Amino acid sequence: MDLGRNNPGDKGERFCMSVFACNTSQEVNGVSWLHGKVSQEMFASIWKGYFPEESHVGYVTNGVHFPTWSATEWKQLYAKYFNENFLYDQSNPKIWEAIYNVSDEEIWKTRMTMKNKLVDYIRKQFRETWLKNQGDPSRIVSLMDKINPNALLIGFGRRFATYKRAHLLFTDLERLAKIVNNPDYPVQFLFTGKAHPHDGAGQGLIKRIIEISRRPEFLGKIIFLENYDMQLARRLVSGVDIWLNTPTRPLEASGTSGEKALMNGVVNFSVLDGWWLEGYREGAGWALTEKRTYQNQDHQDQLDAATIYSILETEILPLYYARNKKGYSEGWVKTIKNSIAQIAPHYTMKRQLDDYYNKFYIKEAKRFQMLSANDNAKAKEIAAWKEEVVAKWDSIEIVSCEKTEELVKGAIESGKEYTITYVIDEKGLNDAVGLELVTTYTTADDKQHVYSVEPFSVIKKEGNLYTFQAKHSLSNAGSFKVSYRMFPKNPDLPHRQDFCYVRWFV
Ligand SMILES: *Cc1c(COP(=O)(O)O)cnc(C)c1O
Repeated sequence: MDLGRNNPGDKGERFCMSVFACNTSQEVNGVSWLHGKVSQEMFASIWKGYFPEESHVGYVTNGVHFPTWSATEWKQLYAKYFNENFLYDQSNPKIWEAIYNVSDEEIWKTRMTMKNKLVDYIRKQFRETWLKNQGDPSRIVSLMDKINPNALLIGFGRRFATYKRAHLLFTDLERLAKIVNNPDYPVQFLFTGKAHPHDGAGQGLIKRIIEISRRPEFLGKIIFLENYDMQLARRLVSGVDIWLNTPTRPLEASGTSGEKALMNGVVNFSVLDGWWLEGYREGAGWALTEKRTYQNQDHQDQLDAATIYSILETEILPLYYARNKKGYSEGWVKTIKNSIAQIAPHYTMKRQLDDYYNKFYIKEAKRFQMLSANDNAKAKEIAAWKEEVVAKWDSIEIVSCEKTEELVKGAIESGKEYTITYVIDEKGLNDAVGLELVTTYTTADDKQHVYSVEPFSVIKKEGNLYTFQAKHSLSNAGSFKVSYRMFPKNPDLPHRQDFCYVRWFV
Protein backbone atom coordinates (compact mmCIF):
# COMPACT_ATOMS: atom_id res chain seq x y z
CA MET A 1 0.00 0.00 0.00
CA ASP A 2 2.90 2.36 0.72
CA LEU A 3 3.95 2.20 -2.94
CA GLY A 4 0.78 4.16 -3.64
CA ARG A 5 1.38 6.86 -1.03
CA ASN A 6 3.31 10.14 -1.12
CA ASN A 7 4.18 9.56 2.52
CA PRO A 8 4.81 5.86 3.08
CA GLY A 9 3.66 4.78 6.51
CA ASP A 10 0.92 7.39 6.72
CA LYS A 11 -2.04 5.09 7.16
CA GLY A 12 -4.42 8.03 6.72
CA GLU A 13 -3.25 8.68 3.17
CA ARG A 14 -5.31 6.94 0.53
CA PHE A 15 -3.69 4.65 -2.01
CA CYS A 16 -3.15 6.58 -5.24
CA MET A 17 -2.88 4.69 -8.52
CA SER A 18 -0.68 7.40 -10.14
CA VAL A 19 1.75 7.40 -7.22
CA PHE A 20 1.87 3.60 -7.41
CA ALA A 21 2.59 3.75 -11.14
CA CYS A 22 5.36 6.33 -10.59
CA ASN A 23 6.93 4.21 -7.86
CA THR A 24 6.92 1.04 -9.94
CA SER A 25 8.12 2.53 -13.24
CA GLN A 26 11.63 3.49 -14.20
CA GLU A 27 10.43 6.16 -16.62
CA VAL A 28 7.45 8.50 -16.36
CA ASN A 29 6.20 11.01 -18.90
CA GLY A 30 3.50 13.58 -19.49
CA VAL A 31 1.70 13.71 -22.84
CA SER A 32 2.76 17.26 -23.78
CA TRP A 33 5.55 19.62 -22.71
CA LEU A 34 3.25 21.52 -20.35
CA HIS A 35 1.75 18.32 -18.95
CA GLY A 36 5.30 17.13 -18.25
CA LYS A 37 5.94 20.31 -16.25
CA VAL A 38 2.63 20.00 -14.40
CA SER A 39 3.40 16.34 -13.63
CA GLN A 40 6.83 17.23 -12.24
CA GLU A 41 5.03 19.53 -9.75
CA MET A 42 2.16 17.12 -9.06
CA PHE A 43 4.44 14.21 -8.22
CA ALA A 44 7.30 16.14 -6.62
CA SER A 45 6.42 14.85 -3.16
CA ILE A 46 7.02 11.23 -4.19
CA TRP A 47 10.74 11.97 -4.69
CA LYS A 48 11.54 14.08 -1.65
CA GLY A 49 14.87 15.85 -1.69
CA TYR A 50 14.74 16.94 -5.34
CA PHE A 51 13.12 19.98 -6.90
CA PRO A 52 10.36 19.56 -9.51
CA GLU A 53 12.69 20.81 -12.25
CA GLU A 54 15.17 18.06 -11.33
CA SER A 55 12.51 15.39 -11.75
CA HIS A 56 13.11 12.56 -14.21
CA VAL A 57 9.49 12.96 -15.36
CA GLY A 58 9.69 13.81 -19.06
CA TYR A 59 7.16 14.22 -21.83
CA VAL A 60 6.11 12.93 -25.23
CA THR A 61 3.43 15.01 -26.90
CA ASN A 62 0.52 12.96 -28.20
CA GLY A 63 -0.01 12.59 -31.92
CA VAL A 64 -2.76 11.03 -34.03
CA HIS A 65 -2.76 8.18 -36.51
CA PHE A 66 -2.65 9.94 -39.87
CA PRO A 67 -4.22 7.16 -42.01
CA THR A 68 -7.18 6.88 -39.63
CA TRP A 69 -7.89 10.57 -39.17
CA SER A 70 -7.25 12.12 -42.55
CA ALA A 71 -10.13 11.95 -44.99
CA THR A 72 -9.73 9.93 -48.20
CA GLU A 73 -9.91 13.16 -50.23
CA TRP A 74 -6.96 14.63 -48.32
CA LYS A 75 -4.98 11.40 -48.51
CA GLN A 76 -5.43 11.48 -52.28
CA LEU A 77 -4.33 15.10 -52.44
CA TYR A 78 -1.23 14.37 -50.35
CA ALA A 79 -0.42 11.32 -52.48
CA LYS A 80 -0.56 13.50 -55.58
CA TYR A 81 1.78 16.23 -54.36
CA PHE A 82 3.93 14.76 -51.61
CA ASN A 83 7.09 12.68 -51.87
CA GLU A 84 6.29 8.98 -52.45
CA ASN A 85 7.86 8.06 -49.11
CA PHE A 86 5.34 10.24 -47.38
CA LEU A 87 3.52 7.56 -45.37
CA TYR A 88 6.77 6.08 -44.06
CA ASP A 89 8.30 9.46 -43.35
CA GLN A 90 5.17 11.37 -42.39
CA SER A 91 6.76 13.32 -39.54
CA ASN A 92 9.27 14.89 -41.94
CA PRO A 93 8.31 18.59 -42.24
CA LYS A 94 10.22 18.89 -45.55
CA ILE A 95 7.69 16.63 -47.26
CA TRP A 96 4.69 18.57 -45.95
CA GLU A 97 6.07 21.81 -47.41
CA ALA A 98 4.82 20.59 -50.79
CA ILE A 99 1.35 21.71 -49.68
CA TYR A 100 2.46 25.17 -50.81
CA ASN A 101 2.63 23.80 -54.40
CA VAL A 102 -1.06 22.89 -54.40
CA SER A 103 -3.27 25.50 -56.03
CA ASP A 104 -5.54 27.56 -53.80
CA GLU A 105 -8.54 26.38 -55.81
CA GLU A 106 -7.78 22.72 -55.17
CA ILE A 107 -7.46 23.32 -51.43
CA TRP A 108 -10.70 25.28 -51.32
CA LYS A 109 -12.49 22.67 -53.44
CA THR A 110 -11.32 19.82 -51.22
CA ARG A 111 -12.51 21.71 -48.16
CA MET A 112 -15.93 22.36 -49.77
CA THR A 113 -16.25 18.68 -50.65
CA MET A 114 -15.63 17.77 -47.02
CA LYS A 115 -18.03 20.43 -45.73
CA ASN A 116 -20.78 19.14 -48.02
CA LYS A 117 -20.12 15.58 -46.89
CA LEU A 118 -20.50 16.62 -43.27
CA VAL A 119 -23.76 18.45 -43.93
CA ASP A 120 -25.14 15.47 -45.88
CA TYR A 121 -24.08 13.15 -43.06
CA ILE A 122 -25.87 15.28 -40.47
CA ARG A 123 -29.05 15.51 -42.56
CA LYS A 124 -29.08 11.76 -43.13
CA GLN A 125 -27.98 10.68 -39.68
CA PHE A 126 -30.03 12.98 -37.50
CA ARG A 127 -33.27 13.61 -39.39
CA GLU A 128 -35.05 10.54 -38.08
CA THR A 129 -33.94 10.69 -34.46
CA TRP A 130 -34.67 14.38 -34.27
CA LEU A 131 -38.13 13.91 -35.79
CA LYS A 132 -38.78 11.10 -33.34
CA ASN A 133 -37.46 12.77 -30.19
CA GLN A 134 -37.90 16.47 -30.62
CA GLY A 135 -41.56 16.91 -31.57
CA ASP A 136 -42.43 19.74 -33.94
CA PRO A 137 -41.51 18.33 -37.37
CA SER A 138 -41.62 21.73 -39.10
CA ARG A 139 -38.91 23.01 -36.74
CA ILE A 140 -36.71 20.00 -37.52
CA VAL A 141 -37.19 20.37 -41.26
CA SER A 142 -36.36 24.06 -41.11
CA LEU A 143 -33.34 23.30 -38.95
CA MET A 144 -32.13 20.76 -41.52
CA ASP A 145 -32.54 23.32 -44.29
CA LYS A 146 -30.62 25.88 -42.29
CA ILE A 147 -27.46 23.82 -42.08
CA ASN A 148 -25.38 25.64 -44.62
CA PRO A 149 -22.13 24.30 -46.10
CA ASN A 150 -21.30 27.79 -47.30
CA ALA A 151 -21.33 29.24 -43.79
CA LEU A 152 -18.22 29.26 -41.64
CA LEU A 153 -18.61 26.02 -39.69
CA ILE A 154 -17.09 25.83 -36.22
CA GLY A 155 -16.83 22.44 -34.53
CA PHE A 156 -16.59 21.60 -30.85
CA GLY A 157 -16.56 17.89 -29.97
CA ARG A 158 -15.21 16.26 -26.86
CA ARG A 159 -16.00 14.63 -23.55
CA PHE A 160 -18.06 17.04 -21.50
CA ALA A 161 -15.68 17.14 -18.58
CA THR A 162 -16.24 20.50 -16.91
CA TYR A 163 -12.61 21.60 -17.30
CA LYS A 164 -13.12 21.60 -21.07
CA ARG A 165 -15.55 24.53 -20.60
CA ALA A 166 -18.10 23.68 -23.29
CA HIS A 167 -20.21 26.49 -21.80
CA LEU A 168 -17.60 29.17 -22.46
CA LEU A 169 -19.03 30.24 -25.80
CA PHE A 170 -22.40 30.83 -24.10
CA THR A 171 -21.13 33.28 -21.49
CA ASP A 172 -22.66 36.33 -23.23
CA LEU A 173 -25.69 35.16 -25.19
CA GLU A 174 -26.57 38.61 -26.49
CA ARG A 175 -23.18 39.08 -28.05
CA LEU A 176 -23.20 35.54 -29.43
CA ALA A 177 -26.66 36.12 -30.98
CA LYS A 178 -25.30 39.19 -32.75
CA ILE A 179 -22.38 37.21 -34.16
CA VAL A 180 -24.45 34.29 -35.46
CA ASN A 181 -27.15 36.54 -36.92
CA ASN A 182 -24.92 38.87 -38.89
CA PRO A 183 -26.20 38.37 -42.48
CA ASP A 184 -22.81 39.34 -43.95
CA TYR A 185 -20.92 36.62 -42.10
CA PRO A 186 -22.98 33.43 -41.73
CA VAL A 187 -21.53 31.15 -39.06
CA GLN A 188 -22.76 27.92 -37.50
CA PHE A 189 -21.54 26.05 -34.45
CA LEU A 190 -21.70 22.27 -34.31
CA PHE A 191 -21.42 20.90 -30.78
CA THR A 192 -21.13 17.28 -29.81
CA GLY A 193 -19.88 15.21 -26.92
CA LYS A 194 -20.79 12.89 -24.09
CA ALA A 195 -20.56 13.29 -20.35
CA HIS A 196 -19.49 10.52 -17.98
CA PRO A 197 -22.54 8.74 -16.48
CA HIS A 198 -21.53 9.96 -13.00
CA ASP A 199 -20.70 13.51 -14.10
CA GLY A 200 -23.87 15.45 -13.31
CA ALA A 201 -22.21 18.80 -14.01
CA GLY A 202 -21.06 17.64 -17.47
CA GLN A 203 -24.57 16.38 -18.24
CA GLY A 204 -25.93 19.75 -17.10
CA LEU A 205 -23.73 21.48 -19.67
CA ILE A 206 -25.14 19.35 -22.48
CA LYS A 207 -28.67 20.12 -21.32
CA ARG A 208 -27.94 23.86 -21.28
CA ILE A 209 -26.42 23.84 -24.78
CA ILE A 210 -29.40 21.92 -26.17
CA GLU A 211 -31.78 24.42 -24.54
CA ILE A 212 -29.86 27.36 -25.98
CA SER A 213 -29.78 25.75 -29.42
CA ARG A 214 -33.61 25.64 -29.42
CA ARG A 215 -34.07 29.36 -28.77
CA PRO A 216 -35.34 31.19 -31.85
CA GLU A 217 -32.23 33.38 -32.18
CA PHE A 218 -29.94 30.31 -32.19
CA LEU A 219 -32.07 27.85 -34.14
CA GLY A 220 -29.91 26.39 -36.90
CA LYS A 221 -26.93 28.45 -35.68
CA ILE A 222 -25.98 26.34 -32.70
CA ILE A 223 -26.56 22.69 -33.39
CA PHE A 224 -26.02 19.87 -30.93
CA LEU A 225 -25.28 16.45 -32.40
CA GLU A 226 -26.00 13.46 -30.17
CA ASN A 227 -24.00 10.23 -29.86
CA TYR A 228 -20.48 11.53 -30.40
CA ASP A 229 -18.38 8.59 -31.57
CA MET A 230 -15.40 8.01 -33.83
CA GLN A 231 -17.50 8.13 -36.99
CA LEU A 232 -19.03 11.50 -36.13
CA ALA A 233 -15.60 12.68 -34.96
CA ARG A 234 -14.11 11.79 -38.36
CA ARG A 235 -16.85 13.71 -40.16
CA LEU A 236 -16.54 16.75 -37.89
CA VAL A 237 -12.75 17.09 -37.76
CA SER A 238 -12.69 16.98 -41.56
CA GLY A 239 -15.90 18.86 -42.32
CA VAL A 240 -15.82 22.07 -40.27
CA ASP A 241 -13.63 25.12 -40.96
CA ILE A 242 -12.51 25.82 -37.40
CA TRP A 243 -11.91 23.41 -34.55
CA LEU A 244 -12.60 25.14 -31.26
CA ASN A 245 -11.18 24.04 -27.90
CA THR A 246 -11.50 26.09 -24.76
CA PRO A 247 -10.11 24.15 -21.75
CA THR A 248 -9.16 25.68 -18.43
CA ARG A 249 -5.39 26.04 -18.51
CA PRO A 250 -3.37 23.95 -17.64
CA LEU A 251 -5.84 21.07 -17.32
CA GLU A 252 -5.80 19.80 -20.93
CA ALA A 253 -3.02 17.21 -20.75
CA SER A 254 -2.65 17.08 -24.53
CA GLY A 255 -5.90 17.04 -26.47
CA THR A 256 -5.89 15.20 -29.79
CA SER A 257 -9.00 16.16 -31.72
CA GLY A 258 -7.38 19.41 -32.87
CA GLU A 259 -4.51 17.34 -34.28
CA LYS A 260 -7.01 15.27 -36.27
CA ALA A 261 -8.41 18.53 -37.64
CA LEU A 262 -4.94 19.67 -38.81
CA MET A 263 -4.52 16.85 -41.31
CA ASN A 264 -7.82 17.80 -42.96
CA GLY A 265 -7.11 21.45 -43.55
CA VAL A 266 -9.23 22.44 -40.55
CA VAL A 267 -7.76 25.34 -38.60
CA ASN A 268 -7.48 25.38 -34.81
CA PHE A 269 -8.77 28.07 -32.49
CA SER A 270 -7.83 27.06 -28.97
CA VAL A 271 -6.48 27.92 -25.55
CA LEU A 272 -2.67 27.69 -25.42
CA ASP A 273 -2.82 24.50 -23.39
CA GLY A 274 -1.74 20.89 -23.98
CA TRP A 275 -0.47 20.25 -27.52
CA TRP A 276 -1.58 23.66 -28.87
CA LEU A 277 0.89 25.49 -26.63
CA GLU A 278 3.60 23.74 -28.68
CA GLY A 279 1.72 23.55 -31.98
CA TYR A 280 0.44 27.10 -32.44
CA ARG A 281 2.22 29.18 -35.10
CA GLU A 282 1.24 32.69 -36.02
CA GLY A 283 -0.72 32.75 -39.26
CA ALA A 284 -1.58 29.06 -38.92
CA GLY A 285 -4.51 29.22 -36.49
CA TRP A 286 -5.68 31.23 -33.50
CA ALA A 287 -4.79 31.08 -29.83
CA LEU A 288 -6.26 32.29 -26.57
CA THR A 289 -3.56 33.79 -24.39
CA GLU A 290 -1.53 31.45 -22.22
CA LYS A 291 -1.28 33.66 -19.17
CA ARG A 292 -3.83 33.13 -16.46
CA THR A 293 -4.96 36.67 -15.75
CA TYR A 294 -7.55 36.08 -13.02
CA GLN A 295 -7.38 33.86 -9.97
CA ASN A 296 -11.18 33.83 -9.98
CA GLN A 297 -12.37 31.26 -12.53
CA ASP A 298 -15.62 33.11 -13.35
CA HIS A 299 -13.69 36.24 -14.23
CA GLN A 300 -11.24 34.20 -16.29
CA ASP A 301 -14.16 32.57 -18.15
CA GLN A 302 -15.64 35.99 -18.92
CA LEU A 303 -12.33 37.31 -20.20
CA ASP A 304 -11.73 34.21 -22.33
CA ALA A 305 -15.26 34.35 -23.76
CA ALA A 306 -14.87 38.03 -24.63
CA THR A 307 -11.57 37.18 -26.34
CA ILE A 308 -13.26 34.43 -28.39
CA TYR A 309 -16.06 36.76 -29.56
CA SER A 310 -13.60 39.46 -30.43
CA ILE A 311 -11.22 37.20 -32.39
CA LEU A 312 -14.22 35.77 -34.26
CA GLU A 313 -15.58 39.21 -35.12
CA THR A 314 -12.36 40.98 -35.99
CA GLU A 315 -10.13 38.25 -37.41
CA ILE A 316 -11.70 34.89 -38.25
CA LEU A 317 -14.98 35.91 -39.91
CA PRO A 318 -13.57 38.82 -41.97
CA LEU A 319 -10.73 36.58 -43.19
CA TYR A 320 -13.06 33.73 -44.14
CA TYR A 321 -15.38 36.06 -46.07
CA ALA A 322 -12.65 38.04 -47.83
CA ARG A 323 -13.60 36.37 -51.15
CA ASN A 324 -11.70 37.04 -54.32
CA LYS A 325 -13.18 36.99 -57.85
CA LYS A 326 -12.88 33.23 -57.97
CA GLY A 327 -15.07 32.93 -54.90
CA TYR A 328 -12.63 31.87 -52.22
CA SER A 329 -10.58 33.57 -49.52
CA GLU A 330 -6.88 33.63 -50.32
CA GLY A 331 -6.03 34.51 -46.71
CA TRP A 332 -7.99 31.53 -45.49
CA VAL A 333 -6.28 29.12 -47.87
CA LYS A 334 -2.93 30.53 -46.76
CA THR A 335 -3.85 29.84 -43.15
CA ILE A 336 -4.78 26.27 -44.08
CA LYS A 337 -1.50 25.76 -45.95
CA ASN A 338 0.52 27.18 -43.06
CA SER A 339 -1.31 24.94 -40.62
CA ILE A 340 -0.68 21.83 -42.73
CA ALA A 341 2.94 22.63 -43.56
CA GLN A 342 4.13 24.01 -40.23
CA ILE A 343 2.07 22.14 -37.63
CA ALA A 344 0.70 18.84 -38.98
CA PRO A 345 4.03 16.95 -39.40
CA HIS A 346 4.75 17.35 -35.68
CA TYR A 347 1.52 15.70 -34.51
CA THR A 348 1.50 12.36 -36.31
CA MET A 349 1.63 9.05 -34.45
CA LYS A 350 4.92 8.47 -36.30
CA ARG A 351 6.53 11.42 -34.53
CA GLN A 352 5.02 10.30 -31.22
CA LEU A 353 6.37 6.77 -31.57
CA ASP A 354 9.78 8.03 -32.65
CA ASP A 355 9.86 10.12 -29.48
CA TYR A 356 8.92 7.16 -27.31
CA TYR A 357 11.66 5.07 -28.91
CA ASN A 358 14.30 7.77 -28.66
CA LYS A 359 13.47 8.99 -25.19
CA PHE A 360 12.44 5.73 -23.51
CA TYR A 361 12.10 2.41 -25.31
CA ILE A 362 15.63 2.09 -26.71
CA LYS A 363 17.15 3.15 -23.40
CA GLU A 364 14.98 0.73 -21.45
CA ALA A 365 15.62 -2.15 -23.84
CA LYS A 366 19.36 -1.66 -23.43
CA ARG A 367 19.01 -1.46 -19.69
CA PHE A 368 16.99 -4.64 -19.65
CA GLN A 369 19.79 -6.41 -21.57
CA MET A 370 22.33 -5.07 -19.11
CA LEU A 371 20.30 -6.05 -16.02
CA SER A 372 19.25 -9.49 -17.21
CA ALA A 373 22.50 -10.79 -18.70
CA ASN A 374 24.12 -13.79 -16.94
CA ASP A 375 21.06 -14.81 -15.00
CA ASN A 376 20.21 -11.25 -13.94
CA ALA A 377 23.64 -10.70 -12.44
CA LYS A 378 23.52 -6.91 -12.59
CA ALA A 379 19.97 -6.70 -11.24
CA LYS A 380 21.00 -8.86 -8.28
CA GLU A 381 24.12 -6.79 -7.71
CA ILE A 382 22.17 -3.51 -7.67
CA ALA A 383 19.50 -4.95 -5.38
CA ALA A 384 22.15 -6.15 -2.92
CA TRP A 385 23.88 -2.77 -3.05
CA LYS A 386 20.61 -0.95 -2.39
CA GLU A 387 19.89 -3.16 0.61
CA GLU A 388 23.28 -2.41 2.05
CA VAL A 389 22.89 1.33 1.56
CA VAL A 390 19.43 1.26 3.15
CA ALA A 391 20.84 -0.57 6.19
CA LYS A 392 23.70 1.89 6.69
CA TRP A 393 22.34 5.19 5.35
CA ASP A 394 21.24 6.71 8.66
CA SER A 395 24.54 5.91 10.34
CA ILE A 396 26.65 7.82 7.77
CA GLU A 397 28.40 10.58 9.65
CA ILE A 398 29.80 13.98 8.73
CA VAL A 399 33.11 14.04 10.56
CA SER A 400 34.33 17.51 9.69
CA CYS A 401 33.73 20.45 7.39
CA GLU A 402 36.02 23.24 6.29
CA LYS A 403 34.73 26.31 4.50
CA THR A 404 35.86 29.92 4.32
CA GLU A 405 34.43 32.55 6.63
CA GLU A 406 32.53 34.29 3.78
CA LEU A 407 30.58 31.11 3.05
CA VAL A 408 29.68 30.61 6.69
CA LYS A 409 28.52 34.22 6.96
CA GLY A 410 26.70 33.95 3.67
CA ALA A 411 28.38 36.96 2.11
CA ILE A 412 30.30 35.76 -0.92
CA GLU A 413 31.55 37.70 -3.92
CA SER A 414 30.43 36.81 -7.39
CA GLY A 415 33.26 35.66 -9.62
CA LYS A 416 35.43 34.52 -6.70
CA GLU A 417 36.17 30.84 -6.03
CA TYR A 418 35.63 29.23 -2.62
CA THR A 419 36.85 25.83 -1.53
CA ILE A 420 34.72 23.56 0.67
CA THR A 421 35.99 20.32 2.19
CA TYR A 422 33.92 17.65 3.95
CA VAL A 423 35.11 14.47 5.62
CA ILE A 424 32.42 11.81 5.71
CA ASP A 425 32.48 8.43 7.47
CA GLU A 426 30.72 6.07 5.07
CA LYS A 427 30.45 3.38 7.82
CA GLY A 428 31.56 0.46 5.70
CA LEU A 429 29.91 1.53 2.44
CA ASN A 430 32.50 1.46 -0.31
CA ASP A 431 32.47 4.88 -2.04
CA ALA A 432 28.66 4.79 -2.13
CA VAL A 433 28.08 8.41 -1.14
CA GLY A 434 27.78 11.33 -3.50
CA LEU A 435 27.88 14.93 -2.36
CA GLU A 436 26.88 18.09 -4.16
CA LEU A 437 26.49 21.78 -3.48
CA VAL A 438 23.08 23.10 -4.49
CA THR A 439 22.49 26.81 -4.97
CA THR A 440 18.87 27.92 -5.00
CA TYR A 441 16.89 31.13 -5.33
CA THR A 442 13.35 32.05 -4.39
CA THR A 443 10.84 33.56 -6.82
CA ALA A 444 8.08 36.05 -5.98
CA ASP A 445 5.59 33.20 -5.55
CA ASP A 446 7.76 31.94 -2.65
CA LYS A 447 8.91 28.90 -4.61
CA GLN A 448 12.50 27.72 -4.37
CA HIS A 449 14.32 26.88 -7.62
CA VAL A 450 17.66 25.35 -8.45
CA TYR A 451 20.26 27.84 -9.69
CA SER A 452 23.16 25.40 -9.94
CA VAL A 453 24.37 22.01 -8.75
CA GLU A 454 28.13 21.56 -8.24
CA PRO A 455 29.50 18.08 -7.55
CA PHE A 456 32.15 17.33 -4.91
CA SER A 457 34.99 15.00 -5.82
CA VAL A 458 36.56 12.48 -3.49
CA ILE A 459 40.16 13.66 -3.03
CA LYS A 460 41.27 11.27 -0.29
CA LYS A 461 40.24 7.96 1.26
CA GLU A 462 41.39 6.59 4.63
CA GLY A 463 39.52 3.46 5.71
CA ASN A 464 35.90 4.55 5.99
CA LEU A 465 36.78 8.25 5.92
CA TYR A 466 36.22 9.94 2.57
CA THR A 467 37.37 13.53 1.95
CA PHE A 468 35.14 15.47 -0.47
CA GLN A 469 36.08 18.78 -2.01
CA ALA A 470 34.30 21.30 -4.25
CA LYS A 471 35.15 24.72 -5.59
CA HIS A 472 32.15 27.01 -5.48
CA SER A 473 31.70 30.19 -7.42
CA LEU A 474 28.72 32.28 -8.49
CA SER A 475 28.75 34.37 -11.61
CA ASN A 476 25.55 36.29 -10.84
CA ALA A 477 24.83 38.81 -8.12
CA GLY A 478 21.69 38.39 -6.03
CA SER A 479 20.23 36.53 -3.13
CA PHE A 480 20.94 32.79 -3.16
CA LYS A 481 20.81 29.95 -0.70
CA VAL A 482 23.60 27.40 -0.61
CA SER A 483 22.99 23.89 0.78
CA TYR A 484 24.64 20.48 0.57
CA ARG A 485 23.01 17.29 -0.59
CA MET A 486 24.19 13.74 0.07
CA PHE A 487 22.86 10.90 -2.09
CA PRO A 488 23.62 7.22 -2.84
CA LYS A 489 26.10 7.18 -5.72
CA ASN A 490 26.08 4.37 -8.28
CA PRO A 491 26.62 4.80 -12.03
CA ASP A 492 24.39 1.78 -12.66
CA LEU A 493 21.26 3.60 -11.46
CA PRO A 494 19.06 5.03 -14.24
CA HIS A 495 18.53 8.30 -12.36
CA ARG A 496 18.45 9.72 -8.82
CA GLN A 497 14.71 9.18 -8.34
CA ASP A 498 15.25 5.44 -8.81
CA PHE A 499 16.74 5.22 -5.32
CA CYS A 500 15.65 8.39 -3.63
CA TYR A 501 17.63 8.51 -0.40
CA VAL A 502 18.69 12.10 0.22
CA ARG A 503 20.19 13.96 3.17
CA TRP A 504 20.36 17.76 3.10
CA PHE A 505 22.55 19.90 5.36
CA VAL A 506 23.85 23.47 5.44
C1 LIG B 1 -10.25 12.23 -30.66
C2 LIG B 1 -11.46 11.85 -29.90
C3 LIG B 1 -11.55 12.18 -28.54
C4 LIG B 1 -10.47 12.89 -27.79
O1 LIG B 1 -10.46 14.25 -28.16
P1 LIG B 1 -9.66 15.30 -27.23
O2 LIG B 1 -9.49 16.51 -28.08
O3 LIG B 1 -8.35 14.67 -26.88
O4 LIG B 1 -10.51 15.55 -26.05
C5 LIG B 1 -12.72 11.83 -27.85
N1 LIG B 1 -13.73 11.16 -28.46
C6 LIG B 1 -13.67 10.84 -29.78
C7 LIG B 1 -14.84 10.11 -30.39
C8 LIG B 1 -12.54 11.16 -30.54
O5 LIG B 1 -12.49 10.82 -31.83
